[in-house]
Amino acid sequence: MILVGAHTPAAHPLDEAEARGADLVQIFLSNPQGWRKPAPRADAAELKASKIPIYVHAPYLINVCADDNKVRVPSRRILQDTCDAAAEIGAAGVVVHGGHVTGDSPQEEGIIRWRKALDVLDTDVPVLIENTAGGDKAVARRVEWIARLWEEIGEYGVGFVLDTCHSWAGGEPFDELVPRVLEATGRIDLVHANDSKDPFDSRRDRHENLGQGQIPPEELIRVIREAQAPVVVETPGGAVEQAADIEWIRAQL
Ligand SMILES: [Zn+2]
Repeated sequence: MILVGAHTPAAHPLDEAEARGADLVQIFLSNPQGWRKPAPRADAAELKASKIPIYVHAPYLINVCADDNKVRVPSRRILQDTCDAAAEIGAAGVVVHGGHVTGDSPQEEGIIRWRKALDVLDTDVPVLIENTAGGDKAVARRVEWIARLWEEIGEYGVGFVLDTCHSWAGGEPFDELVPRVLEATGRIDLVHANDSKDPFDSRRDRHENLGQGQIPPEELIRVIREAQAPVVVETPGGAVEQAADIEWIRAQL
């Protein structure tokens, strides 16, 4: 059975899971648009003891591939801070976007920068790199680049998150998507099941509730079924809308 859950507000994740009928949750531990390190949580022991797997999404502005060391260096630091905080709550993994090369450096440089980031990262929490929808010189948008990234960093044992909205908006056809990703990475650790408000290959990252966006429902469910990994919906609305998305997946499966 495939576990299905949602990205929820962070204050009371176990209550949020219950409100959605979720098997697992994903939360932020700090402001997703900020560099501030996560604050200690009073409920850390309770979360750690819980049977509900909790995934942590690292801040969006992390880009370990950036040319600018005022972005690249803090990106490494807050990834470490996030992994440390994730360990405190017994998190199942830390999700981080693949990022993209900025400035004049070639795309290959992004892959080398990932190696450097993982070289200095010290954590027992699984780090899961997520594919992205856009970004010129993105290291985890096209599957061929994901394959090159994994050739460089596969030995670090990092995991992979496949976001359906990002694949769709990033221009990756769904029919052979999961087999191609598995050939590149050997693993899919988590699926972010999101519909897309925008057309195929639009490079826009706007999530929609499942069955209400532009991804054909049968294609969406094909990816979830083939990936055989836990699923997180990162869809709009609150508990009611996300509970419906979770139910939609279970019904389709
Ligand atoms: Zn995602």
